[in-house]
Amino acid sequence: MSFEKLNIAEPILRALSQEGYTSPTPIQEQAIPILLEGHDLLGCAQTGTGKTAAFAIPILQLLSENSKSTPGRKPIRALIVTPTRELAIQIGESFSSYGRHLNLKHTVIFGGVNQLSQVRAIQGGVDILICTPGRLLDLVQQKFIQLANINMFVLDEADRMLDMGFVHDVKRILQLIPKKRQSLFFSATMPKAIQELANSILTTPKKVEVTPVSSTAEKIEQALYFVNQEDKKDLLIHVLKDKSIRAALVFTRTKHGADKVVKLLAKNSIKAEAIHGNKSQNHRQRALSNFKGGHTRVLVATDIAARGIDIDELAFVVNYEIPNIPETYVHRIGRTGRAGAEGKAVSFCDAEELEYIRDIQKLIGLEIPVITDHPYPANYKPLPTAPKKNTSHKPFSRSGGGKNHRGGKPRFGKGNSSSKPSNRQN
Ligand code: AMP
Repeated sequence: MSFEKLNIAEPILRALSQEGYTSPTPIQEQAIPILLEGHDLLGCAQTGTGKTAAFAIPILQLLSENSKSTPGRKPIRALIVTPTRELAIQIGESFSSYGRHLNLKHTVIFGGVNQLSQVRAIQGGVDILICTPGRLLDLVQQKFIQLANINMFVLDEADRMLDMGFVHDVKRILQLIPKKRQSLFFSATMPKAIQELANSILTTPKKVEVTPVSSTAEKIEQALYFVNQEDKKDLLIHVLKDKSIRAALVFTRTKHGADKVVKLLAKNSIKAEAIHGNKSQNHRQRALSNFKGGHTRVLVATDIAARGIDIDELAFVVNYEIPNIPETYVHRIGRTGRAGAEGKAVSFCDAEELEYIRDIQKLIGLEIPVITDHPYPANYKPLPTAPKKNTSHKPFSRSGGGKNHRGGKPRFGKGNSSSKPSNRQN
């Protein structure tokens, strides 16, 4: 399948080719025709699947086809609401890339920074507004933004939006935009509350579903280290001695933990920066661009800060602390191996986190291969799990093979006898 077959306009095709995209990803292949025909869309997909282009391309195309040059300020015609500032910025970058040969304007607004430059950009007239909910409502209330001309509306990462407590903001936004519009709704998971929210936004939507959250993990090479909590810092230094790891994203559960890891790495002459909610937006952007530009080797992040971070060719993720929500593990390791690239993810599991690992393995339907030959072996016994017949996943070549740390047969997710991912959808 080529982009040409999707009836994409020439200026966008040219931009996609400049981006180096040769063929559409599955979500693009499915969603673009539906959206170009004007249908509402319910997309079950997470970041890393190419979903941004799946909605940005048709939005750009439909808006440019319906562009009228009227006197006065351009009205905002497309509104994209997303939970985090990082995600908003990245969506903005995608619109800049794919729309570079079109005469459409967009801007990105989010909280935590001075509103002045955002207000100026809006006053200059934009066709597309990408925003986080709070700042949008704030600027609407101050009458800097009018939403009466919105005819395309995207709610991105709806599940995360609800997790972060934005449900009332989303409902308020829905009251402010016209009823007659094309609506797009994306979520990585579809629990009942999300489905209900989707029903309240969409009109007879077409449904597109790609890579359920559990199966994203399949293409990423994963490994597990059993280690005592107090040895994690030494293990991290040990792992990062491998010079082939040019850039690593290290996850901690807390902001404080992230700062501690940065200090530890600095002491060991490893350039690292942290991004989390206590850092200013400018700091976070700078840290991200230092990392993307190869000036910092390690970026230490908490889950919310890292959500949606798009780093081309990020090959290595470290779960310094194991997330207690299994889906978070999949989101974290999804930072590597994006759009078909190869990635590796290692997890440091202490005695308190064994239960989390068990839940993760259950969700992804895979045993995570265990690295046994490392200098900081744990002094606790991992919980026994049900045996499984085979696995398609090999541990890293430098590891001790697909055995558990006691040298026995591979350990497997409880109650799952197949190496295929489970299709569990929350
Ligand atoms: P997303 O899921 O929108 O966050 O996209 C994940 C990554 O895939 C981004 O780095 C995009 O630039 C990249 N990408 C999106 N579509 C394509 C495509 N058709 N071919 C290659 N890379 C793509």
